[in-house]
Amino acid sequence: MNLVLLGPPGAGKGTQGHKLAEELDVPRIATGDILREAIEQGSELGSAAQQYMDRGELVPDEVVVGIVRARLALGDCDDGFILDGFPRNVGQAEELDEMLQARGRGIDACLLLSVPDADVVRRLSGRRVCERCGNPAQAVPGDEPACERCGGRLVQRTDDKEDTIRARLEVYRQETEPLVAYYAARGQLEEVPGRGSIDDVFEHMKARVAAMAPAGHRELR
Ligand code: AMP
Repeated sequence: MNLVLLGPPGAGKGTQGHKLAEELDVPRIATGDILREAIEQGSELGSAAQQYMDRGELVPDEVVVGIVRARLALGDCDDGFILDGFPRNVGQAEELDEMLQARGRGIDACLLLSVPDADVVRRLSGRRVCERCGNPAQAVPGDEPACERCGGRLVQRTDDKEDTIRARLEVYRQETEPLVAYYAARGQLEEVPGRGSIDDVFEHMKARVAAMAPAGHRELR
């Protein structure tokens, strides 16, 4: 299945996206992770993106659209993919539709993970991510835990500081939230409440995905 994960920063897209990608055996394509890797590698792409990311703003469309176009062209996306963090505005969604249509494909469903703003700020300021695999975790006071996925070191993202979190939330409201109406108008939106345990949210997501699956798609385990 070709899925889009939508929701404010801190809604749990990364956590749920990793789990769903494993469950469906398809790649998870996270534009934020790709951009952070580029910054770490000191590439031209990274230095172009960093100033926007540090301010909590969107990186210009042509940059991220180029990244996604190149990634979707790889063979491992032929049986489906999960997009996490893309599209982030209506222009990107239209570009995505065009690039998929050119290959006779389209998005099957958009899963909206919804959480209240207060939860977002609390979750993100306590969030840590694995510097090796990007897997998110919550900070535990006085503890230096390792990533439960790969054992890597957990670090705080530079854009998970309170001011930047508020800027990112504002960008979400202004630019990304219109995508809710965009996918709803096509009957492709499925809302999943992002509150509750990781496992509960995941069960809910799996049920929604199964309900939206096109005929003949890979069965959920
Ligand atoms: P994320 O890891 O998805 O929270 O993304 C972190 C940051 O990367 C965002 O605040 C943006 O600056 C940038 N970014 C990620 N995905 C996109 C996108 N689709 N369009 C523009 N900027 C993006």
